[in-house]
Amino acid sequence: MTTHMKSESSGPVDVIIVGCGPTGMTLAALLGQQGLDVVALERYEGLYNLPRAAAFDDETMRTFQKLGIAEKMLPGTNVQGGYIWVNGRGEVLLDIEYDNPGRCGWPAQYMMYQPHVESVLDGLVASMPNIDVRRGTTVTGLEQDADGVTLTAVDLHGVTTAVRGRYVVGCDGGNGFVREAIDAGLDDYGFFENWLVCDFQLRRDVPGLPTFRQVCNPAEPIAIVNIGPGYHRFSFRLEAETTRDEAAQPQQVWARVVDYLTPDDADLIRVANYTFRSCIAERWRDRRVLLAGDAAHQMPPFLAQGMVSGIRDARNLAWKLGMVLEGHPEEILDSYQEEREPHVRFITEKAVELGRVQTMRDVEEAKHRDARMIAARLANEKPDKLVYPSLAGRLISTGGGELFPQGLVSSVTDGTALFDNVVGTGWLIVVDSAATLAALPESTREAIAALGGRSVAFSLASMFEPADVSDTGGVYTRWFAATGNVAALVRPDSYVYGVARDAEELAALAKELLGQLRAVA
Ligand SMILES: Cc1cc2nc3c(=O)[nH]c(=O)nc-3n(C[C@H](O)[C@H](O)[C@H](O)COP(=O)(O)OP(=O)(O)OC[C@H]3O[C@@H](n4cnc5c(N)ncnc54)[C@H](O)[C@@H]3O)c2cc1C
Repeated sequence: MTTHMKSESSGPVDVIIVGCGPTGMTLAALLGQQGLDVVALERYEGLYNLPRAAAFDDETMRTFQKLGIAEKMLPGTNVQGGYIWVNGRGEVLLDIEYDNPGRCGWPAQYMMYQPHVESVLDGLVASMPNIDVRRGTTVTGLEQDADGVTLTAVDLHGVTTAVRGRYVVGCDGGNGFVREAIDAGLDDYGFFENWLVCDFQLRRDVPGLPTFRQVCNPAEPIAIVNIGPGYHRFSFRLEAETTRDEAAQPQQVWARVVDYLTPDDADLIRVANYTFRSCIAERWRDRRVLLAGDAAHQMPPFLAQGMVSGIRDARNLAWKLGMVLEGHPEEILDSYQEEREPHVRFITEKAVELGRVQTMRDVEEAKHRDARMIAARLANEKPDKLVYPSLAGRLISTGGGELFPQGLVSSVTDGTALFDNVVGTGWLIVVDSAATLAALPESTREAIAALGGRSVAFSLASMFEPADVSDTGGVYTRWFAATGNVAALVRPDSYVYGVARDAEELAALAKELLGQLRAVA
């Protein structure tokens, strides 16, 4: 094949994204929404069109809500009420109920058909005039200097192009190019398992088919999950002695699922062999190049948090890149790995731990596990809810680091809807009453407004006070009462920057933030 080099004459774009998986497309859309010029390079010509991830959570749905595509996601999802573990004899070991709504105002767990989710994201990205998606383009070279990054990419005809951007984000998956190019290193947990993932398209309703179940049978651990309306997945851990090609034969697959499905119920649409790994890049940023999603971290899917974590990265990074490109200090980007890595580490370690418990092959050990878990159930001990750690670092202040809850609120202009739809996102000062805001100096308010921020007052002390919104769902009355705060300073990614117990603390908090962003009026 002849190689041609095409050079682009126009100046650098704001951000180049390498890889259009769920992380890259979400990041592109979030940056595009801020009005930034984005080029997204993807080696495949079309969408991947096969499911990998099976589920996402309410935080992801809140990001889709921000992008205006939450409703479009719904036809490709099922709300999941709970998660059940049974042993080889079918006895229930664990029965987890998911919150509905969860902290982010949406059901805490959705089962999804990934091609649907990706096609909605793709449609959104394609509709944004400031995002230039170039499919069939593989990135092969990266060079950065003080002002930007030049990527070299080859298209399907062998034509090589140079693309220059002020920042590059590698969203190019676990085996991508960018992590290697910046020599980011990899902290490998040494977790390495082969799984056979078998996807079915249902022909009819199959009564009793579990929608989210772990069969903790030491003879053969199985994960059974619904993967969106009309689709189902059975996953089997493969032992070293199993011949993969043989296990993937349709008749072998049907034999494994015979207790649940027959060819009259469903078509077997795909059998894939995955190696689940756990590793985290040591460095998520090298000057103007950053990593996000599987490029920065990989985890086994036992907590259904791989893609979800990538979308969290995108949400965390998008506003920071936006601010830096607007002229705020570049150190803002140092908070990215500082905040995201411990979060991802916690989830990865939990996923590995859960996986080990679920997939025990030692019969005696499994018996002990079953006895312990059944005894806990008989004693009515509710399983601990998994609480992810708060964010910490330079862009988190006193009492901050958690997601600000989302509930139903009402306003005269917008009626009743979820908080983010009525109030919007961005820098927000949310107060229990208008009186709390009064002590904030005018210059501080103006400086917050210059960041695109605004204040939102409830009237929780007295219904006769003026209020911007009323707390229709009661979420904020409960939050202010439980935390003892009168105000929260909320970041553009809906995480709390810091909280205040009185007007004076609020003024100090706002000043601290403005100092960090060097945005003092
Ligand atoms: C069986 C299974 C079940 C899972 N279940 C869940 C689940 O329930 N919930 C969940 O949240 N996660 C789950 N995951 C994990 C989830 O699928 C991944 O975390 C997610 O797909 C990662 O998204 P990404 O965009 O970061 O990377 P990818 O989806 O890998 O996308 C990377 C993109 O970069 C492109 N690319 C690579 N190299 C280049 C290059 N040099 N130039 C241009 N483009 C390039 C690729 O073609 C690809 O499109 C599961 C994974 C598996 C395998």
